Amino acid sequence: MTVKSPALIAPVVVPKAADILANRLRDLIVKGQITPGSFLPTERDLVTESGLSRTSVRDALRILESEGLITTKVGRTGGSMVTLPGRASVARSVELFVRTHGIRLESLLECRVAVEPTLARLAAKRRTPEQLAEMEELHEQFVASVDDVAHYKNVNLDWHLAIARASGNEPLMALMEAISTPIRDAMDYQHVTTPELRVIAVKAHTVILKAIREQDEDAAFQRMDRHVAGYRDIATGAAPMPPAAKNTTAKIRIIDI
Ligand SMILES: [Zn+2]
Repeated sequence: MTVKSPALIAPVVVPKAADILANRLRDLIVKGQITPGSFLPTERDLVTESGLSRTSVRDALRILESEGLITTKVGRTGGSMVTLPGRASVARSVELFVRTHGIRLESLLECRVAVEPTLARLAAKRRTPEQLAEMEELHEQFVASVDDVAHYKNVNLDWHLAIARASGNEPLMALMEAISTPIRDAMDYQHVTTPELRVIAVKAHTVILKAIREQDEDAAFQRMDRHVAGYRDIATGAAPMPPAAKNTTAKIRIIDI
């Protein structure tokens, strides 16, 4: 008697040949068996060695290329050179993910609150004199860019990213770099804010920088936490905006990332 039991047999997913080859080649690269700067076997050799079609081999190479693991050079001396993906490629992938999945600004800001205080703590611990000098220089520009919102926005981003780099933690740096551009570009969703908020941001940066300068790790963490959590609350409407100044009609967008 035949027992009909669909629960016993799950659907069988047959992987594509190109994916299997890409997995094998990726493994060799990740394990260091094919080192950066060296070339993968030629397309023809890969066809012979793998027994796959030329189309499948090309598809596999395209997968690795899109992952930033190889660059394809054309010409007689060309081929597939192994490269290691840098932080920029992580940032590109996350950015693409954020844009294609319609990730909400609120989620990005939560991510930032989870990451940036730790980056500040690590920056306080590890920053070099050169990195501190860079942060100080950016901070001066930040303070001076009151009337130039576009400049203010970019300097602000650069300052936050300088702290991320000074943390010395590559994965966190990559994550921060990845989320900062989408947050900055989400400015259209943000409130038009008052000059008061800008003053608050300058004050917050001043005390964060002081903690990093003095290598006070706990203070750097707490002050960055207060800064980015406060910004999240205002941007998402969880906290009221500071009252508008009297005598000012200027509406200034605060894009604080
Ligand atoms: Zn800030």
